[in-house]
Amino acid sequence: MNADGHCIIRLLDADTVNQIAAGEVVERPASVVKELVENSIDAGATRVIIDLTSDRRGIGRIRVVDNGSGMAREDARMAFVPHATSKIRHIADLSKSMTLGFRGEALASIAAVSEVSLATAERGTDRTGTEIIVKAGSMTRSEEIGTPPGTTVTVKDLFFNTPARKKFQKPVSSEIAFITRQVESFAIAHPEIAFRFVHNGSVRLSTEEEGDLFGVLVSLYGAGIATELIPVEACEGPVKIFGYITKPSFSRQNSSGILISINRRQVLARPVADAVRSGYGTLLPDKRYPLAFLELSIDPALIDVNVHPAKRFVRLSRERDICSLVTQAVVRVLRGANLVPEAPLDHTLHAGSKKSPLPYNQSGRPACEVHEPAHTEYILTDRRLRQTALVPGLMEAQENQPDIEFLGQYNGIYILARGAEGDLLLIDQHAAHERVLYDQLSATRGMSDESQELLVPVILTVTPAEYQFIRVAIPLLTGKGFVIEEFGRDSYAVRAVPAALGSTARYEAVRDVILEFSSNRRCTGPDAEEMLTRSMACHGAVKAGTVMTPDQCRRLLDQLSRTASPWTCPHGRPVMVSLSRDRLDQMFLRR
Ligand code: ADP
Ligand code: MG
Repeated sequence: MNADGHCIIRLLDADTVNQIAAGEVVERPASVVKELVENSIDAGATRVIIDLTSDRRGIGRIRVVDNGSGMAREDARMAFVPHATSKIRHIADLSKSMTLGFRGEALASIAAVSEVSLATAERGTDRTGTEIIVKAGSMTRSEEIGTPPGTTVTVKDLFFNTPARKKFQKPVSSEIAFITRQVESFAIAHPEIAFRFVHNGSVRLSTEEEGDLFGVLVSLYGAGIATELIPVEACEGPVKIFGYITKPSFSRQNSSGILISINRRQVLARPVADAVRSGYGTLLPDKRYPLAFLELSIDPALIDVNVHPAKRFVRLSRERDICSLVTQAVVRVLRGANLVPEAPLDHTLHAGSKKSPLPYNQSGRPACEVHEPAHTEYILTDRRLRQTALVPGLMEAQENQPDIEFLGQYNGIYILARGAEGDLLLIDQHAAHERVLYDQLSATRGMSDESQELLVPVILTVTPAEYQFIRVAIPLLTGKGFVIEEFGRDSYAVRAVPAALGSTARYEAVRDVILEFSSNRRCTGPDAEEMLTRSMACHGAVKAGTVMTPDQCRRLLDQLSRTASPWTCPHGRPVMVSLSRDRLDQMFLRR
């Protein structure tokens, strides 16, 4: 009690309660999209349109239109009442529920922090329906209107009454990227539904009704993915697995391309994603991840979906069994699949020079040795193996005698040399080149004029989400010497790259640098530039397995000896090991 004798602990009023609940469910505009689309899916819609407007100040309005069941008048009013749901009646129903919603919180929460208008008509009615407008939790309109069967929800002025939340919103472009990724995931989890995502009047993404997963993936990732997909189907006890994984040649640097849905609900299921990755074993180097699109249908009794307000996580009982089933399924299909990488599409090749694919021997395996080195940056099945390299950053004439003498190249990975003291040096060519490039790129820090035009621009065809991520990253990329322009709805043209990467920069290197950097969402932070520099050094560096001419090796050694710390690469791994004459003599029992 306080001095006046009043109770200091009070019950919160309903508005405050709803705003607090909204804080959990409606974190950002993307949460609104998620909740509304989930409702449309639950309502049995076969067509869902997500229509968004934005300007520099933020997201203007979010509209989701569906052709689902619609609602009768009284239900439409009830829908805005907190904890009102048509989907469950008792907690026990949860254990058999297959709907995405069940908490009855979304509409109430969204309407607590915005103005929502809902137009809905039940299926089978003749366009007579209901319009309801709710602003900051209070109903301001409820009328009969003419509207087609289905439901349209429009959300305006999001967070207008919660200034703190509004202040912490991400920049519009990253929010749009985030929403795009969300719609992509919905399209993948529900190939039977036609999704259309419209932003400021232009269609960003659209999938066909009654499409299959394969078709959806091709429409999202481009025709190039078709030959990289391996179907997965497995069934054991209460668990069914269905979907696609990619060949090891199509790997990525992080696990964000592993999309898992459980009973049609996309979830962040880290253990399941890890289980997919472990199925690849050493087919992929450390820290490389495949793309995977897997749907698990599991007896709902084995799942607790009620562990997160936005239902982004679920709890699985028998998680270990389920994960090992996933791993086994992946192992099995990879064993049976033809993993030889396909030659890339012509238009994706740089400099118009069509590269020959790997030489293969009779067994269908790459004719070169497959190593399992300590590096993690490259793909072992790299189709550039065995090609004489164009080594960027090493083109200048060499003036002084290098104090390292070139002796030979071993397996396209190590350079053998004699050091200044006469020691035998074994040098990792990739790590060495990475160090050289890193030093050069760091020296040009912040200078945009150090740019080198590409002989032929690299065209990057990207997914809608990647498109947005790149857009956000363009200022920094430009500052580092890239010249990138939008090229149609789903592509960027890269016309120039940082000079250190050279005019012959490989398509894959350019793509990997740009995608890695833009999609890690740290591309605007303080250490963004350092990360970009490292990434460029790593991707620009000559790959292990690349045969270099003696001259190129000599230049690399020369430049390496001029770097500030030639002993380790920017990631701290050793660049060279040395064996002294004494040590060698000992090994051969010469003394
Ligand atoms: P929940 O989805 O957890 O039930 P919501 O607040 O999201 O809670 O929605 C409340 C109710 O409104 C739902 O249970 C459903 O009956 C109805 N509803 C919401 N959106 C739609 C829609 N697009 N089509 C048909 N009914 C809907
Ligand atoms: Mg809902």
